[in-house]
Amino acid sequence: MFNALVAQQTGKTVTCRFEQWDNCQLPDHPILVKVSHSSINYKDALAVTNRGKILRSLPMVPGIDLVGNVVESASTDFQPGDTVVLCGGGLGEDYCGGFAEYARVPAEPLVKLPATMSPKDAMAAGTAGFTAMLCVLALQDASIKTSSGSIIVSGASGGVGSVAIAILARLGYSVTAISGRPEHSGFLKQLGASEVLPREAFQEPAKPLEPQRWAGAIDTVGDNLLAKLLAQINYAGAVASCGLAGGHQLNTTVMPFILRGVKLLGINSTYVDNPLRQRAWQQLADVLDHRFWASISQTIGFQAIPEYSEKLLAGEVRGRIIVDMNSAE
Ligand code: NDP
Repeated sequence: MFNALVAQQTGKTVTCRFEQWDNCQLPDHPILVKVSHSSINYKDALAVTNRGKILRSLPMVPGIDLVGNVVESASTDFQPGDTVVLCGGGLGEDYCGGFAEYARVPAEPLVKLPATMSPKDAMAAGTAGFTAMLCVLALQDASIKTSSGSIIVSGASGGVGSVAIAILARLGYSVTAISGRPEHSGFLKQLGASEVLPREAFQEPAKPLEPQRWAGAIDTVGDNLLAKLLAQINYAGAVASCGLAGGHQLNTTVMPFILRGVKLLGINSTYVDNPLRQRAWQQLADVLDHRFWASISQTIGFQAIPEYSEKLLAGEVRGRIIVDMNSAE
């Protein structure tokens, strides 16, 4: 038997509560993992508080991120004792996730944690850090080099934005941050942003083309901000679009694409093939160190997941929340 936070249908509502489960209640996947840490993402907070349709069936253990040790494996790719990490891939949405002491998971999205990264640091990264790295890799693969010019990052003080700034700065890029919260300017500069621009500077409706300012962009906001960035990207530049913190609309023209050869790169961290997952985790381990991950995260115990899910949705959390599954508090 083990502890699990389980979403159940009770009458007409869905509620999450702590239960004792046994292994046979887990889905029929080939790899049993003893979870050491998980993390709370926006999606998890919605699932735990039943404010969004995240869980595809019930009962379900939420938690889209986990790290832990393989206990049993019917896959030749993983052996008992391997330390593995999984972000997305349907975890905590299609099948039971990281908010339990054990999880049964498929092999396809599972990655062996690079030896130089600790399990706790992997969850300080979690889906946010993994997505930030996918955005950076997409820009690199689109030939955006440190010599190409500045990269602009929106939603800068959020999970994805802040890790993206740190990665880009450490790789030698010049980084400009866009933030709606001037009180975080010092933090963003510490991460490596050379300048922080206010969100209001991008509120005017975008013209089809505006003066060229940026070699590339990582956009977590969408809507008019994304349209504005597209209009300001240099010839042959690229924008990695991963979020919709400001809205899901995109009112733009074809001009940046056909006159400047700008590329719009869509990023989806959930369904990523295994070689790209391995590449992203290795790069995260190579580029960012423990001091960085400790500076952007706080650790809570398993029992505190509901409380911190509420706090996250209320905007009372800065940075990433790691869940230590070996601590109840
Ligand atoms: P956070 O909530 O941590 O950060 C979002 C940031 O966006 C905020 O910190 C804020 O930054 C800015 N922001 C918030 N509201 C608005 C608004 N109304 N208009 C403009 N900016 C706003 O989220 P994450 O960083 O974890 O995720 C960012 C986005 O990426 C989300 O939309 C999320 O759903 C998406 N996402 C997508 C993934 C994928 O696979 N494609 C994976 C992970 C996340 P500031 O105050 O500095 O302006």
